[in-house]
Amino acid sequence: SSYLSDRINNLSESATLKMTKLGRELAAKGVNVISLSVGEPDFNTPEHVKDAAKKALDENWTRYSPVPGYPELRQAIVNKLKTENNLDYDISQIVVSTGAKQSLSNVILTLINPGDEVIIPTPYWVSYSEMVVLAEGKSVFISTEIDNNFKITPAQLEAAITPKTKLFMFSSPNNPTGTVYSKDELAALAKVFEKHPQVFILSDEIYEHINFVDKHESIAQFDSIKDRVIIINGFSKAFAMTGWRLGYIAANKTIAAANDKLQGQTTSGTCSISQRAGIVAYEQGLESVNKMKEAFARRRQLVYDLLRDIPGVRTNLPEGAFYFFPEISSFFGKKDQDGNIIKNSSDLALYLLNVGHVATVGGDSFGNDNYIRLSYAASDESLIEALKRIKAALGKLA
Ligand code: PLP
Repeated sequence: SSYLSDRINNLSESATLKMTKLGRELAAKGVNVISLSVGEPDFNTPEHVKDAAKKALDENWTRYSPVPGYPELRQAIVNKLKTENNLDYDISQIVVSTGAKQSLSNVILTLINPGDEVIIPTPYWVSYSEMVVLAEGKSVFISTEIDNNFKITPAQLEAAITPKTKLFMFSSPNNPTGTVYSKDELAALAKVFEKHPQVFILSDEIYEHINFVDKHESIAQFDSIKDRVIIINGFSKAFAMTGWRLGYIAANKTIAAANDKLQGQTTSGTCSISQRAGIVAYEQGLESVNKMKEAFARRRQLVYDLLRDIPGVRTNLPEGAFYFFPEISSFFGKKDQDGNIIKNSSDLALYLLNVGHVATVGGDSFGNDNYIRLSYAASDESLIEALKRIKAALGKLA
């Protein structure tokens, strides 16, 4: 609309939220839709975390909280970073926000001037590039494909850096591909960053605990660059707490103070009750997460076998998170039953929704149009049924 700001007119709608909405609309008409579009564990928040929230309410933790979070929560985060990741941080380096999504947005608004370049490997989580748009920065993409497990090389990174590069942002484990960078691979990227002291590194580690190959490795472990690394993490995926809106950064003190200042003029501290529950989640450890991980590991194998059985679909075995990102470009140019041509991944995702009644997301919104994303955070039965429907629907394209 003409009276809205350029800033908002230049912004795209979140594709994952849009597909989820379309799926819900179809379901409201009575269609049995299986949603594999949303990035959310299909588990409930652990009981002890819910109990902590009820207790917080009874104890009247209902006032404004400190802007960067309660000191006890920030201390619990410091302790977690030490015991789980062997990283030393001070509480002044931690800022808690309304989900990792706000943490990401805070960091980008804190670091990026108009025209600054932000390097983002594709495929990337949908909001990364749009947050750069909001900050009037310029995204510079490094493309990766399924054949190298969607990993960038140090040479690609080196080639993408210019004097205008301010930030590199990535997630490992990755959404949408599940790719996990090994310690050696991160060390090789860190070597490149050593040569370019003007570049900050935003390391989104929200899927840290959903890793099927190894223990989690953070790029912040390399002392030569640690001061320029901003870790993003949160409670949504590890503790099935998506609705509680709890995320944080660990960064150098200057960046942490800047995020605190920005948040103080926008949202203030996140929900007091969520924060009190977050303290208990971190203090009580990883038992519930490990149970979720077992279920995800089983489903990963299930979906892998079913996907490999569909002609025209190419997939790898993701190493973390709870997504597949199969290659589906062999269907481009084919026609559906009404004669409409499937031109791109969004067309295919819409076709799968309307004909197969399975909600997925086209890869174009993650920066790679030849793919679609499926979340396997759903029950085994729905996954089996969903993959059966997808196979049948794809088989009808001519
Ligand atoms: N980063 C990645 C890679 C994600 O996939 C998500 C959620 O889907 C987030 C950040 C945001 O998580 P939160 O719920 O903490 O805002």
